[in-house]
Amino acid sequence: MTCENNLRVLFATSEAHPLIKTGGLADVSGALPKALSQLKQFKGDIKILIPGYSAVLAKLKSPQTFANIEVLGQNCTLIAGKMPDSSLDVIAIQNTALYERTGGPYSDGNGMDWPDNALRFAVLSRLASLLCSKNSPLKNWQPDLIQCNDWQTGLAPAYMKLVDKSTTKSILSIHNLAFQGCFDTSWISKLALPVAQYQIDGFEYYGQLSFLKAGIFYADKLCTVSPTYAQEIQTEKFGFGMQGLLKARSGDLTGILNGIDTQEWNPATDMHLIKNYSNSRIAGKKAVKHALQQHLGLQIDAAAPLLGIVSRLTYQKGLDLMPEIMPKLIQQGCQFAILGSGDKALEASFNTLAEHYPAQVSMNTGYHEHLSHNIMAGCDMFVMPSRFEPCGLNQLYGLAYGTPPIVSLTGGLADSVRDINELSLKNNTATGFVVKNVNSASLLVTIERAINVWKDKKIWHQIQKNGMQRNISWDSSAINYLALYEKTLSNN
Ligand code: ADP
Repeated sequence: MTCENNLRVLFATSEAHPLIKTGGLADVSGALPKALSQLKQFKGDIKILIPGYSAVLAKLKSPQTFANIEVLGQNCTLIAGKMPDSSLDVIAIQNTALYERTGGPYSDGNGMDWPDNALRFAVLSRLASLLCSKNSPLKNWQPDLIQCNDWQTGLAPAYMKLVDKSTTKSILSIHNLAFQGCFDTSWISKLALPVAQYQIDGFEYYGQLSFLKAGIFYADKLCTVSPTYAQEIQTEKFGFGMQGLLKARSGDLTGILNGIDTQEWNPATDMHLIKNYSNSRIAGKKAVKHALQQHLGLQIDAAAPLLGIVSRLTYQKGLDLMPEIMPKLIQQGCQFAILGSGDKALEASFNTLAEHYPAQVSMNTGYHEHLSHNIMAGCDMFVMPSRFEPCGLNQLYGLAYGTPPIVSLTGGLADSVRDINELSLKNNTATGFVVKNVNSASLLVTIERAINVWKDKKIWHQIQKNGMQRNISWDSSAINYLALYEKTLSNN
């Protein structure tokens, strides 16, 4: 089977924008299948498989029930529909008790993981495997290939190999190795997994059952979301204990940098902005900054450097380094537009700074799509000093929106942002600022360096232009995924 023929791909995921989103996985799951299906080289069709959370069921277009099926003791209804923003096929798994809850896909309103996550995502994985088997309720549509994503679908390749003996090829995409789906061994029998495979060459992981380890072990091929992260995860520093297995499988591991959905993230057409702008009409960005400062209650001042942050607030993102250095930057006239939730102590630190300096610091918690677009467009620069970053999307949005990112040298940040130096300025490849070491002193120096460059409008416009002109759409990533699909199907 090659991609010249009618290639059938099942894309199993626990979130996909615009149906449901908690982070970058949703962006990828929303954009990659769409980009693949629009490639002229791609002859085939893709279906997304996703849990039927309330938001998914509410947004699914043209829903039609096509099967009722029991897996792992759970009665599930399979509903075929379309994505809200495209004609892409979606299969939603409806099981009210498992998925239709008040709270997030993985946790309740207080951020506590749902206690039955093992079951909820084993059902997703088990159904993914069934859809790739002879017993599939989709009689005329057996996938040639399944792309699984992160731990939530990590058990699918195990069920395919161990239970369904599926001939469908499998790829596990790792979007963040830090989330491993580890559960108590009592789940093994409850999830109908063969106990004999609870071993190092199987799904055992430091005395627990790991969904991610299962995926890494049983999938035919592995990929991750940037070339640098593909190398990093084979080391002790970034491997989270999986480095040995990943190194052993390095021949099957590819890194493909994510793109961005240019329908969603394009300053020239972005519906969230008061004024659209582009590389050749960059002046419109000023109006967005003005409106953002007004909306956030910051002092309206075009001459104040406005720094943006939109992020989960976790150790990974390195933003705990900010509160210490912000007073110094505030003294220098900087403003901050922050949107993020997570670590409560860090939320509190940002809130305290916003209370002390209301004209210069704005802090919003919660998830706000509209505000995130306006921060990306209205700020002068974007701060992202991650300790590790599989790909990262915000720095890519920063490039597209003429908001140069200030990033650390890791994962996808290293693959997408070129620091400013004599050479990169000369050959017009400079797109942002790289923090040498992830510590507060180094971050402060880099932000101050960025502000100094920002004051030179000619150089700054060139840096904005360099980023805005780069092709970071999904097209080129989709071509690389297609090549990976072909490689997987031909067993190379
Ligand atoms: P991660 O997936 O590790 O959280 P990424 O940079 O890959 O980080 O993707 C994060 C995505 O989630 C981006 O699209 C970002 O704009 C969005 N995002 C993060 N926090 C918020 C928030 N509080 N409100 C709106 N969007 C957010």
